[in-house]
Amino acid sequence: MGNALSPKQPSRKELLKALRVEGGKGTALLDDRDAGETFGWDKEQAVAEFAAEMAELVELQKRLYADGSNSVLFVLQAMDAAGKDSTIRSVFSGLNPAGVDVNPFGVPTDEERAHDYLWRIHQHAPADGRIGVFNRSHYEDVLVVRVKGFADEQVWKRRYDHIANFEQMLADEGTTIIKVFLNVSRDEQKERFQERLDRPDKNWKFRAGDLDDRTLWPEFMRAYTDALEKTSTDDAPWYVVPADRKWARNVCIARILRHHLEEIDPQYPAPEAGLDQIVID
Ligand code: AMP
Ligand code: MG
Repeated sequence: MGNALSPKQPSRKELLKALRVEGGKGTALLDDRDAGETFGWDKEQAVAEFAAEMAELVELQKRLYADGSNSVLFVLQAMDAAGKDSTIRSVFSGLNPAGVDVNPFGVPTDEERAHDYLWRIHQHAPADGRIGVFNRSHYEDVLVVRVKGFADEQVWKRRYDHIANFEQMLADEGTTIIKVFLNVSRDEQKERFQERLDRPDKNWKFRAGDLDDRTLWPEFMRAYTDALEKTSTDDAPWYVVPADRKWARNVCIARILRHHLEEIDPQYPAPEAGLDQIVID
């Protein structure tokens, strides 16, 4: 309580700017970003700050739901063990679940594979008033598909434009799109994998195939860098959130969400005429 903020801690605006990816700048953005960054918070401060941000988010989500004229799409991408599930649990379980839809996208089923790669995605785009959370997404089709060679280069290369156009369409039709890459370090991933091997209650999260992706780390980072640079736009920005420390990660994500919900500025609908005359007997 009452911890004076250290001058190192960024304002909300500064933090958002630091996390945001400026598309098309040709910078190797992931090389320059520290997965262990804490922005001057210690754990106790960050936890308190997160709780304060969540209280604001709860009110904003209520208004988004009541207003019912806009939606939010929150896309979460990361390497294994970066904390996608834990992020969803930490951040979205605090909101009214009636207004949140969480959709994981794994290896495509036969039916999904028989369609274009956006088919399975589009049907889960959020309806008005709702927040849609994608645990992995259409980006896998320019990430794992590229790195593992599941499609030819000419096929995945043209997908950046498809994706940008698809997202622009959703934005034009009233969806606020927020995309987060959880930036975990390779060292931290090793520790978390080890825990999955050591702890019986975490064994289920480990698949031997996860180690293949770990071996391909540099290729994945290259693919992420390209994807983020080519598809971070004003209407569908990417944020790189440091993910080695969960408490720092949570504050970052809560602030990103709050910023975009405040931009939407949802309002409670005007009451029916004459409501103030009604007497309930
Ligand atoms: P997880 O999120 O850890 O449960 O794992 C889901 C797996 O599905 C990951 O290994 C992803 O790389 C994989 N995956 C997701 N989308 C695709 C896709 N479009 N093509 C191939 N693999 C995918
Ligand atoms: Mg996994």
